[in-house]
Order: sequence, then C-alpha cells, then structure tokens
Amino acid sequence: MVSIKSILAWLTWPVVFVGQLAAFDRALSLGFDPGLTLLALTVANMALIAVLELWLPDRPEWVWTRDGQVVNDIVHGVGNVFGDGLGRNALTILFAVIGGKLAAQGNLGFWPSAWPLWGQILVAVLIVDFFDYWKHRAYHAWAIAWPIHALHHNIDRMTVFKGIRLHFLEATVRAVVVYSPLVVLGAPAEVMLWIAALMTFGGSLNHSNLAQNLPRFVHAMLPTQKTHWLHHGKDYTNGGCNFSPLTMLFDHLFGTFRHPLDEPLDEVGIVPDPIPANLPAQLASPLLWPLLMWRAKRRRHGALS
Ligand SMILES: [Zn+2]
Ligand SMILES: [Zn+2]
Repeated sequence: MVSIKSILAWLTWPVVFVGQLAAFDRALSLGFDPGLTLLALTVANMALIAVLELWLPDRPEWVWTRDGQVVNDIVHGVGNVFGDGLGRNALTILFAVIGGKLAAQGNLGFWPSAWPLWGQILVAVLIVDFFDYWKHRAYHAWAIAWPIHALHHNIDRMTVFKGIRLHFLEATVRAVVVYSPLVVLGAPAEVMLWIAALMTFGGSLNHSNLAQNLPRFVHAMLPTQKTHWLHHGKDYTNGGCNFSPLTMLFDHLFGTFRHPLDEPLDEVGIVPDPIPANLPAQLASPLLWPLLMWRAKRRRHGALS
C-alpha cells in the first residue's frame, strides 16, 4: 500500500527547491539586499530541511540529533565565508599583478550582458559546472589535493549539515578556480548571486536525509540527493562519480556518471579515514595529513594484530 509519507516524498524536492528560488526572486524584485537575502534564505532553508528530516527521513538511523559532528559541521560552514573572502582577495591581487584591463576594471568585458537574465544564468551554469567538475575530480584523483576535500567525505551519515562541512580552504579554491572565470569575463553581480543561490539551495537538499522521490530521468539530468549520496559512498573514495554541482552534463561527457537507482548505496564515508573528531585538528588536517595517515595506519595495524 502506498503510504502518505511516500507520496509526500515526491513533493519535497519540487516544493522546497522551487519554493526557495521563488522566494529569492520575490525578495530581489522587492528590493531587499541581495547578499543578506541569500544568507537569510540559506539559513532558513537549512533549518526547514533539518526539521523536515526528523519527520520524513530517508534513513531513520541517520538522524542528525544523534550525530556528534553537527556543531563542527556548522562551524566549518561559517569558516567557508572566511575562506571565500580569502579567495576573492587573492583574485583582486592576481588581477592587479596581471595588469591591463583586469587591473583597471576587474574584467575583460566579454560577458553577453545584452542577453536576457535566464540566458546569462545558463551560460554561467555551464562555466561553473565545467570548472567545478574538474576541480572536484582533481580533489579525488590527486593525492596532494585530497586532504583539503577529505573532511567533506569524513562522515558516517548524510544530513543537511553535511553540505556545509567543507574545509575553509575549499571555499578559497572555489573562489579562485570556479568563480574567477565568471569574474574575468565580466559576469554581473546578479548572475553571480543566482549561481550562489542554485549552489547553496541544491547543496542543502542533496546532502540532506529528507526523503525525496524523483523520476529516473531527473537523476540523469541534475545532481539529486541520490546521485550525490552515491558520490559519498565508501566504494567511490578512490575513484569517484557524479562530480558536477549544477547539472550532470560533464559527468556524462567525461564518463563519470553513475545512476543511483542502478547502484544501491550501502555506507557513506572514506577508507582510510584519518581525520580526528575534534575541530582544531580538523581545521589543521590538510597540513597534518602525513602525520594523521601514519597514526591511522598504526591504529589499524594495532586493531589487526
Ligand atoms: Zn567529493
Ligand atoms: Zn557532498
């Protein structure tokens, strides 16, 4: 028999995601401060999903109220605002050093500003997706980059708070690698804001434990909760799949798409997992990586012998 909860699970994604975008659009048209509006909506969105997760969880055993890392997740999320600022300052300095038009006006003026806003957002989505895809894939493929991204995968459950569990250096790297092409081309602030809105609203839903049913074709087109859960699966720690943040286009093009309805997910996390549970050590983990790996190996040997 079809339960009321399974029917509601078909409504969660469209109602929450489209509702957030509609609220953002309405606030902008009413003249609210765009940056503050985005921040307020992001926090409200996360709070709403956190409450809904308790009532309509996909996996009841992943309830966030029994996760000892919630405070750490939130502190890392706040740290990302600082990390993003670092990246933006680095960009300004970089442009000044490069000189010429970049130093004078901060961009090359190549952006299709005459296009309607939706067309400009589409162009920005493709650019961000391309650079974020390769940045994310590099994190998983390059041993030297993995320590920065490992904290995001050092989890034993998916909850809305895992979307912001990113080392602050990830925000710095994203500002330089992913957003700088938009800045250099001259994308206006409104387009940048819509990209940030799509990223944060989508990220909260995709990491959350809120039950979300979607038709099969949607998983093949957009980064959904289940495509992203599969990305966090223990099986993919060393290879990786479903890297894209906004569409699945580049995963299809570069052969890393896996359909989540064909590959059931068992556990999330990483192997080996050398990251400690305390906040200062987590912040220092990219620097301490060789030491942490040595300690994890010793612990494993100790457990085996
Ligand atoms: Zn990843
Ligand atoms: Zn993730």
